[in-house]
Amino acid sequence: MERRELLYKGKAKSVYYTDDADKLILHYLNDTSAFDGEKIEKLDRKGEVNNKFSAFIMQKLEEAGVPTHHEGLLSADEAVVKKMEMFPIECVVRNIAAGSVCKRLGIEEGIDLSPPTFEFFLKNDALHDPMINEYHIRTFGWADDEAVEKMKELTFKVNDTLTKLFADAGLLLVDYKLEFGRYKGEIYLGDEFTPDGCRLWDAETRKKLDKDRFRQGLGGVVEAYEEVAGRLGVDLS
Ligand code: ADP
Ligand code: UDP
Repeated sequence: MERRELLYKGKAKSVYYTDDADKLILHYLNDTSAFDGEKIEKLDRKGEVNNKFSAFIMQKLEEAGVPTHHEGLLSADEAVVKKMEMFPIECVVRNIAAGSVCKRLGIEEGIDLSPPTFEFFLKNDALHDPMINEYHIRTFGWADDEAVEKMKELTFKVNDTLTKLFADAGLLLVDYKLEFGRYKGEIYLGDEFTPDGCRLWDAETRKKLDKDRFRQGLGGVVEAYEEVAGRLGVDLS
């Protein structure tokens, strides 16, 4: 697999064309951003840790019957994926209240959400990723109804699989964001699943082991990601 020209430079990954028209390379960067890119830092090892972390999770999800774009690791900080037409939508499931839902609805952080709740956001930095609903998606044509149903179904299937996987490692999956796309007519999970895009707390102490350490200036960001990876059995060598 050969890396060709840059398709897109994102906040945490660069995306490259390859010699295969159906495949892309995701290059995971050390760049870390929060608050719509207001806070930016480079964190040593993060690109490699996230690349291997996401590959591990995508494999677990495949085994559980969630189709993903992941094809394989190319190097320590690069993965090969299916080249998809992405929906400009973020799917968020929350098992425990944290982050924007606390601010928006005045909910105390740490409260169990039962049943888990689901939110759609529009992927649009200029508009600060506003929350949207299914009517917006339909009216503005961001995805068809069948795709919306599939994204919801798969996002909850991910929840069933990953809450158990993390629980077995002594971790609470508080919330997470997924992105989906279309490849040859079918819907696949795309982008990444890493501690950059989810919240993970130690089940005993509730210590934060995700990007909130960066957002809140708690330090030990990549060390926390490595701790999670170690507990799950991700090979970081
Ligand atoms: P952002 O765009 O939010 O800054 P990243 O830095 O992670 O985020 O950039 C990666 C980009 O690649 C995202 O826009 C994401 O939607 C896109 N992407 C992820 N997986 C695929 C895929 N399989 N095919 C096409 N685009 C993808
Ligand atoms: N999230 C993300 N990208 C975004 C927005 C949110 O990965 O652009 C993740 C975030 O890390 C958390 C979940 O989605 O795990 C819910 O985020 P929330 O709505 O609470 O927003 P936040 O307050 O984290 O910005």
